[in-house]
Amino acid sequence: MLYRVEGIVIRSMDYGEGNKIITLCTKSHGKAGVLVRGAKKVRSRHAAATQLFTFGEYVFFRGMGHIGTLNACEIIEGHHTLRERLHLAAYASYVAELVDKALHDEEAGGVMFDQLLAYLRALDEGKDAQVTTHLFEMKLLQRTGVAPELHACVVCGREDGIAGFGWRLGGAICQRCKPKEHANFIANPGILALLQRFEQTDLRRLGNVTLKPDTKLQLRACMRGYMDTHVGVRLKSLQFLEQMEKYDLADLDG
Ligand SMILES: [Zn+2]
Repeated sequence: MLYRVEGIVIRSMDYGEGNKIITLCTKSHGKAGVLVRGAKKVRSRHAAATQLFTFGEYVFFRGMGHIGTLNACEIIEGHHTLRERLHLAAYASYVAELVDKALHDEEAGGVMFDQLLAYLRALDEGKDAQVTTHLFEMKLLQRTGVAPELHACVVCGREDGIAGFGWRLGGAICQRCKPKEHANFIANPGILALLQRFEQTDLRRLGNVTLKPDTKLQLRACMRGYMDTHVGVRLKSLQFLEQMEKYDLADLDG
């Protein structure tokens, strides 16, 4: 069967002599694996179509197997800036790997596709990569049904007297339940308000977000702590991202 789909490359790996297998996050057919013959040859007309973060219209044939074979591709947005600038590449690679882990084959992935495309565009437009990435994480958590509880205390269910966010316990914590042993894991209520805004924000309608460095550090601690505890997948690309953050390499090509 011949497929014609809009897709974004979320994984690209070498396969055999000069070929590549790409994984697409598609608008209509979830995740799709496509073999691109000769993609590594110097004069391949498909080389650009296999680059990470490329958004295009892909035409491929798929028989009984899981992997299709590329017939043609028309690139719509190349997103080359995201591959060339180290800190953008680190964030976008992490998000691409997240989507790869979260999406299943043939699952209607339209929502994730829209949010991913909006995310790549936001990075291209120079929006804060770290904050935009946390917003994307929230969209993914909502989509996969493991979003934090942000409106009522996760221990007692009360909606008043919320003291902050406890990532180990999975959401908002009220003053009376705030357990002493978790004191270090609870951020200020301002972060909770920010996470509530994330919950309501569609990446396609994201304005400019400017946060203080201290707020960004707390936001990162919250999101990463939550993802580690409640999602529990350690991604290869996250290690690289954390190294980069540690040495503040963002300044190098800022
Ligand atoms: Zn409580």
